[in-house]
Amino acid sequence: MKYISTRQNAETLGFEDILLQGLATDGGLYVPEFLPKFSPAQIKEMAKLNYPDLAYKIIHPFVGGEIADADLKEIIYKSYTTFSHSAVAPLKQLSHNEYLLELFHGPTLAFKDFALQLLGNLLDHFLRKNHQKIVIIGATSGDTGSAAIMGCKACKNAEIFILHPFERVSDVQRKQMTTVLDDNVHNISLKGNFDDCQAFVKKMFMDQSFLKGKKMVAVNSINWARIMAQIVYYFYAAIRLGATEDAPVSFSVPTGNFGDIYAGFLAKKMGLPIKKLIIATNQNDILTRFIKHNDYSRKSLFETLSPSMNIQVSSNFERLLFDAYKNVGQPKELANLMKNFETNGSLKVEPRVLENIKKDFDSYSIDDTATCELIKQLHDETGETIDPHSIIGIGASRKYMASKDYENEPVIILATAHPAKFPEAIEKSGLKPSELPKFLSGLMNKKEKMVILENNLDDVKEFVSNKI
Ligand SMILES: *Cc1c(COP(=O)(O)O)cnc(C)c1O
Repeated sequence: MKYISTRQNAETLGFEDILLQGLATDGGLYVPEFLPKFSPAQIKEMAKLNYPDLAYKIIHPFVGGEIADADLKEIIYKSYTTFSHSAVAPLKQLSHNEYLLELFHGPTLAFKDFALQLLGNLLDHFLRKNHQKIVIIGATSGDTGSAAIMGCKACKNAEIFILHPFERVSDVQRKQMTTVLDDNVHNISLKGNFDDCQAFVKKMFMDQSFLKGKKMVAVNSINWARIMAQIVYYFYAAIRLGATEDAPVSFSVPTGNFGDIYAGFLAKKMGLPIKKLIIATNQNDILTRFIKHNDYSRKSLFETLSPSMNIQVSSNFERLLFDAYKNVGQPKELANLMKNFETNGSLKVEPRVLENIKKDFDSYSIDDTATCELIKQLHDETGETIDPHSIIGIGASRKYMASKDYENEPVIILATAHPAKFPEAIEKSGLKPSELPKFLSGLMNKKEKMVILENNLDDVKEFVSNKI
């Protein structure tokens, strides 16, 4: 399998190369040259597979033979045995046509474990083979950091640096990162906000001279391997419900950077019978504005009760736009569109392009007030406590189910985090905070390791440079 840049002006690379690279050199994102396709008969056969065997089937073509089959299988099994539920991604029925896909049974209680457990093991495989050492530097508003640390800490050829904004992640989220005491894990608490953390990571990417010749690897969702891993649970869930061409399912996905829902779009293109993909946003609603009004414009950031979805711009959206322009025969158009966006902070697409996108997607936004009301309502209806991100998926799904487009198909809502990670929102909703699962029960009393740095890029670079 070869991978090309969305901006069409960078080298074509194989799987190992894109795994170890972030952005393409032309500023674009890597996407596979073509997608593997599965027939209805093949999808029917997949119903017999457990989660890791299904993952192997779906991931295998993307790796394109760059890992021996037996090794790939072992890597996948290793990645998903760390999950505490034997189904890995269990499906729970909420009401007649509403299903919750619980993606929070991994080691850090958020769906990001699905991608980062695999990414860590893939990196470990290639780095050992190449006798290569790398530096992972990532920014987190909460969930990515712990998932990256837990996924990559066993990879001793990687030094891991995670920047989080000082006192702006929840206590549970911080502890999940800072109580990992391995020598190759370094938590930096930056006296700035998440945007500062992200901007520093970008700048360090552009100038890696302080890394003493080592390569910097991205673990955020622009890394293709993360998207690839997430395609699997769309298949797993839709197949559990027996989805077919005549009886498709829809998915509602709490969305920030557009990584998770983009994986659902790929699943659809690979043959999975999906009717609609509902983009569920909080008050940071750039994607909802785009779908409803062709208005993709950067606005100021809202701090909400669903912090992992607080974004101004969705980086993976470029991958969807690339596909949309390719489908109308203008793949080169994308680079201009994105360049304009970088200058003006806003973007509009041709009406026919938006019409095509709307065949696959719908979108609704849920604010904090509705978030709390819905958390309470779901608890009253079902006894379940739902985290403030997943509930936005439920709220958007219910708006879709009340719209004229809805045709009584089952809707699967992606539950992206365990409610115990976000006690503040649960309490605000008038409920008792959820308890951490047993395997994390001692977390809050564990010893922490982190450094607090001023909001200054040179300080961060110096810290990293001294540790590698
Ligand atoms: C990261 C995250 C999201 C958003 O996922 P994207 O891939 O960025 O769209 C939603 N919910 C939770 C709990 C998350 O951690």
